[in-house]
Amino acid sequence: MDNILSVKDLYVEYRSDKGILGKKQTVHAVNGVTLDIKKGEILAIAGESGCGKSTLAKAIIRLESAKSGQIIFEEQDTLAFKKQELKNYRKHVQMVFQNPYSSLNPKMKIIDTLKEPLQINTSLSNSEIEKIVEEKIELVGLDKNCLHLYPHEFSGGQRQRIAIARALVLNPEFILADEPVSALDVSIQAQIINLIKELKEQCNLTFLLITHDMSVIKYLADRVAIMYLGEIVELGNTFSIFNNPKHPYTKALLSAVPKFGKKFSAKNILTGDLPSPENLPQGCKFHTRCPNAMPVCREQDPPVVNINNNRCVKCFLYQDS
Ligand code: SF4
Repeated sequence: MDNILSVKDLYVEYRSDKGILGKKQTVHAVNGVTLDIKKGEILAIAGESGCGKSTLAKAIIRLESAKSGQIIFEEQDTLAFKKQELKNYRKHVQMVFQNPYSSLNPKMKIIDTLKEPLQINTSLSNSEIEKIVEEKIELVGLDKNCLHLYPHEFSGGQRQRIAIARALVLNPEFILADEPVSALDVSIQAQIINLIKELKEQCNLTFLLITHDMSVIKYLADRVAIMYLGEIVELGNTFSIFNNPKHPYTKALLSAVPKFGKKFSAKNILTGDLPSPENLPQGCKFHTRCPNAMPVCREQDPPVVNINNNRCVKCFLYQDS
């Protein structure tokens, strides 16, 4: 499968004034991420809150500035894009945000919200634009009569469908979905998860799915990248990661997923908090919480080991495999 987008050695930093005594500190949000996203797949990025996964998505769509690295889309480095190239890029790459309550303008009717990207980015006539808007709202499972309502007249699940319709109006090839179901009631989550799966097939879409919910990943994703303190520590296809996790952090994440009728296993439960991205630990960034940490882990950055063509893990335990 061809790649739709490649991220190479990407670093994203920003300044925070929440340091000791209000001193500005550098937050190392994304630290040398390299990954390929294949056309037509759903690649999930998983990890705890604060691990950098949303910052990575925002950097890919250029809502966050990168410090260094490359983001290659159709053989062009998007980090070098000027205003017009960036505008074109955003026709191909769209984002769906976590909270459908804040991502829609409460003062705009749905029809105007959906028409806006087409008015800004195309020279289509009003009737052509309205035809596209009607098609997209029906594609996400809503009736076109709802287009003349305001966001507050919809449930959370319906609003997320509208947000997805807005992402679709420009016929993008690639959608970044940042925690698309975590703000919704559990009963509604399954509907949106199924919608994403259907849209991927019907519209030939590629998704980068950002989520901390491993059960959503198990159902939806073709491949998973596990992120810890701004680094990808394990990457592979979903089946093999869930059936045979390698990295101690992946094992801990998976053991934290409750299983019906089974007791929690304390074996892989993490102790301690995620270290602050302002003060990254030396050596392996996971060594402060890793049950397998060795002296070398405190001093040296572990290598990325290719277990096979489809699987890699960043850990000294697999160095000689
Ligand atoms: Fe644990 Fe060491 Fe592997 Fe890091 S490199 S995950 S500290 S065993």
